[in-house]
Amino acid sequence: ERNEVMEKLKTEKSKALFEETKMYLVDGVASSFHKAADEEYPICLEKGKGSKVYDVDGNEYIDYIGAFGPMILGFCPDAVNQAVIKQLDKGSHLSAVTVDLCNLSKKLTEIIPCAEKVSYQNSGTEANMHAFRLARAYTGKKKIIKFEGQYHGWSDEEKVSIDANFVSELGVREHPNRLFHSKGQRHETADDIIILPWNDLELLECVMQKYSSEIAAVITEPIMCDSGPILPKPGYLAGMRALSIRYNIVLIFDEVITGFRVALGGAQQYYNVTPDLAVFAKAIAAGYPFAAIAGKKEIMESGVQASGTFNANPIAVAASLATIETLEKGEIYKQFELLGNLLTKGIIELGQIYNITLFCHSVRSICMIVFGMSEPAEDFRDYIEKADSNGYKLFVKKAQEYGIRFTSKRGRIYLSSQHTEEDIMKTLEVIKLIFSEIKG
Ligand code: PLP
Repeated sequence: ERNEVMEKLKTEKSKALFEETKMYLVDGVASSFHKAADEEYPICLEKGKGSKVYDVDGNEYIDYIGAFGPMILGFCPDAVNQAVIKQLDKGSHLSAVTVDLCNLSKKLTEIIPCAEKVSYQNSGTEANMHAFRLARAYTGKKKIIKFEGQYHGWSDEEKVSIDANFVSELGVREHPNRLFHSKGQRHETADDIIILPWNDLELLECVMQKYSSEIAAVITEPIMCDSGPILPKPGYLAGMRALSIRYNIVLIFDEVITGFRVALGGAQQYYNVTPDLAVFAKAIAAGYPFAAIAGKKEIMESGVQASGTFNANPIAVAASLATIETLEKGEIYKQFELLGNLLTKGIIELGQIYNITLFCHSVRSICMIVFGMSEPAEDFRDYIEKADSNGYKLFVKKAQEYGIRFTSKRGRIYLSSQHTEEDIMKTLEVIKLIFSEIKG
């Protein structure tokens, strides 16, 4: 009944604003993620509140992009806003030790299993670069193992083999190609990066054994969030932990997405596997630019300076403290689980009704959907080979036309503490309409 009256949103002002912005701003966007490659124009937003965002045409959207992950408490969370406003009165930046900085550092060492000491940066990219340097300083070795399809940031060294359109691009499984993704990227910076497929402990062991005298670190997302819905196989993370100890290799968890989203102490707490170093950004300050590196005292204190004018900016620190205090209260993670299950079960049921092959699951506030597969992918190759990326693109486009925002990037769905059962039911109604249109 409701489907019949659901109308597509009109977005003329977004279109016009994008045309004008393009005249002054390169590509019309501040980050390549702000517009999908094949999107004619992105929706231009005016504001966000709770689980919704509002565009310049006055349309309301239920938002599952979460500004690419940070908005774990939804848009304009009261507690964070208040903490920020209070800090504004004391100065937006001080470049000094403050009481809040001491409190936050103490707090992080209490809640994150690997955190004996912490250090700060402003973004996940910088924090991972710092983690690489720490691992090299500590071990005196240079090479870093990184996995296909995992994104750790946009620096020359990080932005290798983060993406592919065809499995053939990835090369031989045992010796994958190093793929470069940006003009101007210096290929020689990847000389010390070893690329491997994920979730394959045997292969990892072979490589670690062979090059143990050269490998400083292995960096991994504990759940492969950034490229498809890929969970670690049982024992994979623990196996990686054991191998890295055996071969004197620093184990780095990139918890930029999983941090605070799957548990207060990150995926390392959720899976009970403690890395040597871990990197947090995005949700750590619920919408403010902030990142932390946490880890073993002896590695954190290996003589690498943390530089940066805006490191531990007091606004971000205040926001982070307020975020953590809010996450500690109540039953937020239980609520994530309930809503995540409601959404993913609902999508699976609709897939069955409309005979659309899909796989959908959730880990607390991170849900994932993939078309063309009815089983989870094992690694990035598996995902690239089987996932119906055009089907997903069409789904995202149609959802947006009916007031639901999903990321254009590979099916990651972020919940916030402000999403409600009503949001999920409305979302499922729209998905039902989309599936009926696709099959109709
Ligand atoms: N690591 C992961 C897993 C990410 O998803 C991202 C960003 O999307 C980064 C690192 C880089 O973080 P930032 O965008 O804050 O530089």
